[in-house]
Amino acid sequence: MGLVSTAVARAVPYLPKSLVRRVSDRYIAGDRVDQAIDVVRDLNERGARATIDVLGEEAADFSAVEATVDLYIHVLNEMDRLRLDSGISVKPTGIGLLIDEERCVAELRRLISHAHSIGRYVRIDMEDSRVTDATLRIFSRLRSEFPRVGAVLQACLRRTPDDAALLVEEGADVRLCKGIYREPKSIAWIDAECVRRNFVRTLEILLKGQGHVGIATHDELLVWDSLEMLRRKRTPRKRYEFQMLLGVDRELEQVLLDRAESLRLYVPFGEAWFEYSSRRLRENPAIAGHVLRGMLRRFDSATRAPTFAPQER
Ligand SMILES: Cc1cc2nc3c(=O)[nH]c(=O)nc-3n(C[C@H](O)[C@H](O)[C@H](O)COP(=O)(O)OP(=O)(O)OC[C@H]3O[C@@H](n4cnc5c(N)ncnc54)[C@H](O)[C@@H]3O)c2cc1C
Repeated sequence: MGLVSTAVARAVPYLPKSLVRRVSDRYIAGDRVDQAIDVVRDLNERGARATIDVLGEEAADFSAVEATVDLYIHVLNEMDRLRLDSGISVKPTGIGLLIDEERCVAELRRLISHAHSIGRYVRIDMEDSRVTDATLRIFSRLRSEFPRVGAVLQACLRRTPDDAALLVEEGADVRLCKGIYREPKSIAWIDAECVRRNFVRTLEILLKGQGHVGIATHDELLVWDSLEMLRRKRTPRKRYEFQMLLGVDRELEQVLLDRAESLRLYVPFGEAWFEYSSRRLRENPAIAGHVLRGMLRRFDSATRAPTFAPQER
């Protein structure tokens, strides 16, 4: 699948937008706030929580940043008005981290203090290794002002168990994921099994602390390993939750919900869906492989002409 995935990833910017849209539909709630809110309402009805992400590229200037923060504030107000069980996830480079760190902190503070005033949670997503240190630095500053803010660690990075130990000392809430960005071998585990072991090792460290842990994966073996560890340690359910991306594995979602596990879905939406999908596919062709496999499965089982429409999920 490697070469094919890379070819698909490279071809994405040249594919018709309508085709990319039909493929990415399953993973993205829509262009508009009301569409994201509808998806969250459905998830809440199924017993899952959500975190909404406004899709966007690295901000080009601070007028774009202000617009993004205003949109997030609107999303928060809608969640509050409709009493939805959801927080938000925000990417620091979309809030200007690569332009000016102090202004980025100021804009994040504006956003988080609004969220805080209505009792909503903000997760600061982790991006590529250019910004790992800055993101953790910003997180620690903002967490000292607002308790309802969380960090993310990526199991693919070799440094992650050490970062986890520091965050545990701070009592921080952490989402643990594998990491979506392709990083050099000098700083990252490349072998999939090493990434898994680093995930399990980091989870063990995080569970020693007092903070809440988000176990963000669709990897069945990791879900299984995590459940085993949680059972062995008799970890109370309020200390952790499982997290998944919208549209990836509805069956695994249901397996966890049926076990009365807490589950949160990451719900991206926004007008920048095309740029987001293309960039993600270019950055990590493995995702093109997942998407391609999904499309072929649908192709296989179709009894009529193949459709790329989202599966009923
Ligand atoms: C809630 C949540 C928040 C995240 N936040 C961040 C973050 O802040 N920073 C960051 O770097 N990464 C983030 N990620 C992405 C994460 O790092 C991984 O890239 C992604 O979850 C895939 O890894 P996996 O553990 O599911 O294992 P994999 O082995 O990659 O996937 C397991 C199975 O899930 C399916 N699958 C996984 N991803 C996709 C996909 N995108 N499309 C279709 N099928 C897929 C495939 O069938 C695959 O076989 C987040 C993931 C989740 C679930």
